[in-house]
Amino acid sequence: MSALVATHATAESIIRMEAVNKWYGTFQVLTDIDLSVRTGERIVICGPSGSGKSTLIRCINRLETVQKGRIVVDGIELTAGGKNVDAVRAEVGMVFQQFNLFPHLTILQNCTLAPMRSRGMSREQAEEVAMKYLARVRIPEQAHKYPSQLSGGQQQRVAIARALCMSPKIMLFDEPTSALDPEMVKEVLDTMIGLAEDGMTMLCVTHEMGFARSVADRVIFMADGKIVEQAPPGEFFGHSKHEKTRQFLGQIL
Ligand code: ADP
Ligand code: MG
Repeated sequence: MSALVATHATAESIIRMEAVNKWYGTFQVLTDIDLSVRTGERIVICGPSGSGKSTLIRCINRLETVQKGRIVVDGIELTAGGKNVDAVRAEVGMVFQQFNLFPHLTILQNCTLAPMRSRGMSREQAEEVAMKYLARVRIPEQAHKYPSQLSGGQQQRVAIARALCMSPKIMLFDEPTSALDPEMVKEVLDTMIGLAEDGMTMLCVTHEMGFARSVADRVIFMADGKIVEQAPPGEFFGHSKHEKTRQFLGQIL
């Protein structure tokens, strides 16, 4: 079975990680990571807690630096020094497990802050863009509330809208539904499915295997800082090659 949402992936790579190795002190968190992601490709990353999934995706927007190897994102060399950080952050949106909204700002202000500060948009322009994306995640009526007045699912949809306001080429999701009450998981996954249908390049760390089956072009399994196995979902779920993958799937499915 291939992804149920038609693929948009092109032949060209928008992300390239080559022989990436990273240590926290003496602890090696990533070992020989080679990963190419094509424009429009949807990737789901799964694996046990502590296997390095968050660290891997955080390297892509340079929230983490690496000691060895090469990372190129849309032609921007991240391993060449500090000067490319702003350029890559503008192209890569990220959504976290804990939403990370600014509590003292309204929903609308959360969405307009970065476009005004780092894209130089006028308030009027930024608000127009923000309202467009708040409508897209189906909560335009919440624009003047504060995060604490919204449900978890609504806050996470705001976090997605906020990232989209920067017109990213790539979206990273780090367990975006793990902190949500079960009844709110679907509304966030539906928002992500909408993005996938529109052709967004996405890397999603998630254990929502239904989402992986229907949306992913490729599922990656990590263990102990390594990519153990990767395959299209039909193959991944039906014929995993490694015992570690089967064990993991046995625990979560
Ligand atoms: P995952 O997202 O798969 O649960 P992480 O990438 O968060 O894994 O972490 C991988 C390993 O690196 C874990 O053992 C974790 O304790 C360790 N780790 C993560 N961040 C740090 C840090 N800032 N300093 C030291 N160790 C860290
Ligand atoms: Mg993690």
